[in-house]
Amino acid sequence: MKIGIYPGSFDPVTNGHMDIIERASKVVDKLIVSVLMNPRKNTGLFTIDERIDMLKECTIHLSNVEIDSFSGLLVDYAKYKEASIIVRGLRAVMDLELEMQMAQINKNMSPEVETVFLVTQAKYSFLSSSAVKELALFHGDFDDLVPHFVRNKLKDKYK
Ligand code: ADP
Repeated sequence: MKIGIYPGSFDPVTNGHMDIIERASKVVDKLIVSVLMNPRKNTGLFTIDERIDMLKECTIHLSNVEIDSFSGLLVDYAKYKEASIIVRGLRAVMDLELEMQMAQINKNMSPEVETVFLVTQAKYSFLSSSAVKELALFHGDFDDLVPHFVRNKLKDKYK
């Protein structure tokens, strides 16, 4: 069974992430979307549990997608989950430098794990969780950028 891991902050999950999740779920047998508990990035808007809840709600229609969280090295987590593929999304050339570096470090540590990049649809190339949070904070229109469930959670946060 081919198991893939799609790691990220997902603070919160956007339609750009959803696009990658839906497409990746078709190329692996099981996709584990995992929220990174990053000690250097602990200033999120949503708690890890809230992010997990939103991801669960938004992927309920995808039977081979599982939601989890992890801390520590991604390659160790991949081994623990028996995953052979790491999925990452690419928005623009800007993403590539950091993504290549991470993929090469991971390859060096764990040659049996492959990083696979999915290129975002053009309509999501500008979309990031940070941009959505900025729009929500200043009451801009972000309705088309996140799933319905997330939209309501964001509105609650900035009420
Ligand atoms: P962000 O950079 O928005 O905080 P994450 O850390 O949650 O996002 O990113 C997790 C993964 O999802 C990364 O591989 C990132 O490049 C990808 N990603 C984020 N936003 C998009 C998008 N709009 N389209 C495609 N991939 C995306």
